[in-house]
Amino acid sequence: MHITMIGGGYVGLVSGACLAAFGADVTVIEHDPTRLDRLKAGEVPIYEPGLEDLIAEQRQAERLTFSGNLAPALQKSRAVFIAVGTPTRRGSGHADLSYVHAAARAIAAHAPDNLLIVTKSTVPVGTGRQVAAIVRQARPELTFHIASNPEFLREGHAITDFMDPDRIIIGLEDISDTTSPARSLLEDLYAPLKEPKSRLLFMGLESAELTKYAANAFLAMKVTFANEMADLCEATGGNITDVTRGMGMDPRISAHFLTPGPGYGGSCFPKDTQALATSARQAGTPTQLIETTIAANEARKRRLAERVLTLAGDNIIHSTIAVLGLTFKAHTDDMRQAPSLTILPLLHEAGATLRVYDPQGMEAARKLLPEGITYAHSPLHAAEDADILLILTEWPEFIPITPAQLAPRMRGTLILDYRQIWQEKTWRDAGFRYHCLGMRHPT
Ligand code: NAD
Repeated sequence: MHITMIGGGYVGLVSGACLAAFGADVTVIEHDPTRLDRLKAGEVPIYEPGLEDLIAEQRQAERLTFSGNLAPALQKSRAVFIAVGTPTRRGSGHADLSYVHAAARAIAAHAPDNLLIVTKSTVPVGTGRQVAAIVRQARPELTFHIASNPEFLREGHAITDFMDPDRIIIGLEDISDTTSPARSLLEDLYAPLKEPKSRLLFMGLESAELTKYAANAFLAMKVTFANEMADLCEATGGNITDVTRGMGMDPRISAHFLTPGPGYGGSCFPKDTQALATSARQAGTPTQLIETTIAANEARKRRLAERVLTLAGDNIIHSTIAVLGLTFKAHTDDMRQAPSLTILPLLHEAGATLRVYDPQGMEAARKLLPEGITYAHSPLHAAEDADILLILTEWPEFIPITPAQLAPRMRGTLILDYRQIWQEKTWRDAGFRYHCLGMRHPT
């Protein structure tokens, strides 16, 4: 079966390569010429563990190709997936659907009869029907089918998530038609999964679109809840690790997404919470929980920057802060909406000297962070002459760093571990002032 994937970003590349591994012939269409050239030359323009090998393998097997030309790919395709970006529209919480609409118009111009058009991008409720309306208006004579198949992969674990998903949500126009071409085509495409029947969840288009936003908003809310409980622990003498362990052993709650941190970020939670809140307001059913989550997360990033300034005291202008980790989480080079993008400019504005290190995010960070920041070539290089060391991302390579390595390099002794990657006792015993989130510390 030949399929076309529009969009060669995180989702399009991973989905395209994985569907090729399932046996489909896949053409990924990318409109950015630089990105396309890199893909054609065998380079992978994003960092995602295992993706480079998988793409190379599938290209070698001639099941995966990259192109900038939609028409010929569509002509031989039975399905086209829209996997383009849906960022927040400037100046509002709305999802910017211009890429989705442009893809729909391009599909309409070249679609063969009986094509299945699948929205994989995260889109507000109602978008699938808008896509259908765009195609119908441009080509009233065309027979086509539509489906929604939102993607749940996590950056850093994208291939395993795609190959071994908890569930695959499929939204159909007519859920009562159990023999619809859309349903059977998607069943065929996902048949190579282990136990596909128990993973495919069919529902209406609107429900599928809402499920993706509801899931992300719920997780964002859970992270924010853990952050607020961490603050309460700090104020009252509790220990957040114990509290969340105790909560998480209840299967109704689960231990996932209960680790406190400097606020959620990334390409999904911030924009998806905004878009869901906006859809809900428009529908006349505002979601107070989500609105509050968004505000609390914004405030948290600023508050944790202020905490650094408070602990640094009057000396901030003469302070050097080593920052370990810039990306919004480990195992990705994605800097979109990373807490570092709020926290570091505030420290920089206050006059601190910043020496930063991230294993994957520095190239993107250079374009987003203020001028005058030093980019180190290793965590220990970042720590040289630092008064304060601040951990913002839980990269595994930071975990084995020892007090014996930092003591001779750092000028000061203050460590702010906003990801709980180290043990307080180890650092305190070695003479450091170690602060993490969610517990009281001697000052
Ligand atoms: P991305 O920005 O990394 O990639 C989008 C790609 O599409 C870009 O390379 C862009 O140049 C290309 N593109 C845009 N319009 C095009 C067109 N008309 N023709 C060809 N190429 C086009 O975005 P992403 O992170 O892959 O996300 C895509 C969608 O999937 C978004 O809606 C996002 O919310 C959703 N999603 C993302 C993740 C994630 O972890 N990144 C997870 C689940 C869902």
